Amino acid sequence: MEKRPVVLVVEDHVVNRMVVKAMLDKLGWHPVMAENGQQALELLASWQGKPPALVLMDCQMPVMDGFEATRAIRAREAEQGLPHMPVVALTANAFAEDSAQCFAAGMDDFLSKPLALDALQACLKKHAP
Ligand SMILES: [Mg+2]
Repeated sequence: MEKRPVVLVVEDHVVNRMVVKAMLDKLGWHPVMAENGQQALELLASWQGKPPALVLMDCQMPVMDGFEATRAIRAREAEQGLPHMPVVALTANAFAEDSAQCFAAGMDDFLSKPLALDALQACLKKHAP
């Protein structure tokens, strides 16, 4: 049985997915992957057991982007009285307007790509201690 805490990674780019997955493995987390926001919501809706400790959410994705997916996660939490799940944006641009858009959608923080291992580790420690 899987004992490592789960981080749900929502990212449409295959190489980015591989990089993030390898980093999470190295840091001792259990990465579960989704390719877009819709797939992530479907995974969460049918989730069995302890929910993910944190979600790493790409912003720009086909089908459903990270902003819409995060708004849906927050709406579901409110409707069902679920605990707040930390959602950290993976953003290509760390400009002020992008971070404002992340927070407005209900995200807790953001990491800029290309992702650095130490930044990811610090973020996990902060939001999923
Ligand atoms: Mg993307």
